[in-house]
Amino acid sequence: MKKRILVTGGAGFLGSHLCERLLNEGNEVISLDNYFTGSKENIVHLMDNPYFEVVRHDVTMPFFIEVDEIYNLACPASPIHYQYNAIKTIKTSVMGAINMLGLAKRVKAKILQASTSEVYGDPKVHPQKEDYWGHVNPIGIRSCYDEGKRCAESLFFSYYRQNDVRIKVMRIFNTYGPRMHPNDGRVISNFIVQSLKNEDIPIYGDGFQTRSFCYVDDLLEGMVRLMNTPESFTGPVNVGNPNEFTIKQLAELVIKMTGSKSKLIFQPLPQDDPLQRQPDISLAKKELDWEPFINLEEGLEKTIDYFKKIIK
Ligand code: NAD
Ligand code: UDP
Repeated sequence: MKKRILVTGGAGFLGSHLCERLLNEGNEVISLDNYFTGSKENIVHLMDNPYFEVVRHDVTMPFFIEVDEIYNLACPASPIHYQYNAIKTIKTSVMGAINMLGLAKRVKAKILQASTSEVYGDPKVHPQKEDYWGHVNPIGIRSCYDEGKRCAESLFFSYYRQNDVRIKVMRIFNTYGPRMHPNDGRVISNFIVQSLKNEDIPIYGDGFQTRSFCYVDDLLEGMVRLMNTPESFTGPVNVGNPNEFTIKQLAELVIKMTGSKSKLIFQPLPQDDPLQRQPDISLAKKELDWEPFINLEEGLEKTIDYFKKIIK
């Protein structure tokens, strides 16, 4: 059955892929975005589809529409972008969640929150399971994002308990792929762009901090499956790829795959940069029957191809 679906942050990296997928599945899709980090370029190829609507709007302001489902993705995701205007990041997470939950409550829509592995902060438990409460510095430079997203989770569960809103909370771990912003400062886009330009690759710290990288198609499969779980399943659920790499390994792999002449240069580790991150995905396997299939080399190949096309 055709559903009418609102995607906030629809012109961003994940949002644009999600809009495309939901349209391909025969739904009516509305992208809502203020274009802070997203761009029309990401969705222009969808615009002649009569079932796709594009709205320029900021989630910190109320929004009225009739929809069946809401995917709430609006929020800058890269540390450079979310720290650029920390207060705005908090407003986007918190006011955005309140406005979208209010909308979901009024029209009885199901609503999914794009939460993050950052709710675990610099974790003391490894790998991270959903029942770990995290280790977040509440006043550090990452707190606008981490605490904003934690408050959003709290709002989701309060609307669920108090107002019976049908919620789904997804904790997304580092995800990459085509349409990442070339200057957003995230590690995969940075390393690919520098490698393709044969420029020095900055490694923050000693490069032994780890991340686990999930390719965008795998992640979206988990996201859509989560939205379609029975009402009793709210999450939070981790979705990400459990294969863990050090940042140095990642840099070496990208240099090899691009045949680059780039050299590694070491720079200070930013404050509160998590040392280890790896999802425990047993809950996603059980409840969503989901696991990722695309390995890092395969995903990097597709992402490198994309950046080759857009970098002059
Ligand atoms: P992105 O920056 O590419 O996309 C975010 C989108 O939200 C952009 O199009 C931006 O313009 C829009 N936006 C920002 N503030 C807004 C506001 N106030 N009103 C309306 N639109 C606004 O980032 P992404 O990687 O696509 O991330 C999407 C969501 O997934 C975010 O909520 C992010 O926190 C979450 N997430 C992503 C990752 C990842 O690795 N990509 C990991 C964890 C969580
Ligand atoms: N990083 C790096 N060089 C870069 C960009 C990032 O060494 O050019 C490191 C960063 O310090 C962090 C990891 O790569 O340890 C992942 O950073 P990213 O900003 O992609 O996401 P995070 O998981 O920290 O939110």
